[in-house]
Amino acid sequence: MIKKKLVSLLFAATLVTPFMASAHEHGEAGIARSFIKEIQAVESSYASVHGAAFFQELSKGQHPRATVVTCSDSRVHTNMLDQSPEGDLFMIRDIGNQIATARGSVEYGINHLGSSLLLIIGHSKCGAIAAASNDYSSLEPAIKKELDTIKVDKGVASIDGVKTNVNNQVADAMNEYAEAVKEGHLLIIGAVYDFADDMKQGAGKLNLINVNGQTDAGKMQSELVRKDIADEKDAVKHH
Ligand SMILES: [Zn+2]
Repeated sequence: MIKKKLVSLLFAATLVTPFMASAHEHGEAGIARSFIKEIQAVESSYASVHGAAFFQELSKGQHPRATVVTCSDSRVHTNMLDQSPEGDLFMIRDIGNQIATARGSVEYGINHLGSSLLLIIGHSKCGAIAAASNDYSSLEPAIKKELDTIKVDKGVASIDGVKTNVNNQVADAMNEYAEAVKEGHLLIIGAVYDFADDMKQGAGKLNLINVNGQTDAGKMQSELVRKDIADEKDAVKHH
């Protein structure tokens, strides 16, 4: 009976603080040794399937259409966004899909590689958001530092915290790139990849929740279809 109670208590703790609960789980080098062999086999088949011309093209340079800021979470990957992400998605990943801990990378993607889409993607069951909305004072200093920049209320429901954080990141980006957005050089989108179906829109759906700082459905739509000054200048150029 006591054991059962302990198990359910432990289970509850895992639910509340999955990020912290996994903080002391260590891997095994034996698993790593067989995994690196698997990775090499997969990569070698990838290389032969794609062929020399593909890699020659990549060697010429990159013009990624999107700079993507998403969480490091292993359940989130590019294959749900783009069938051929190579050269197309400039990926920035950290815990909690934050701009604050990767500002230089974001600026590089937008200012130097010329991405016209900044896509910020949070996800359901995010451990970083769960940790940030709890007491994380006992974690390692480096992890604490990366959680300090996530501004969510203590005790907030997981998915609400995820949405708040995505909106905060979009606000941060809007602050930085207001001019580019206004002139139609940049579209900033905040989204939630909801594999747990916490938003009840369907499991695995990428739900857009913020477009250029707008969170109202109608206004988001207007931002998505609006004619830009840059488009008009282009139209003039082409005539
Ligand atoms: Zn996450």
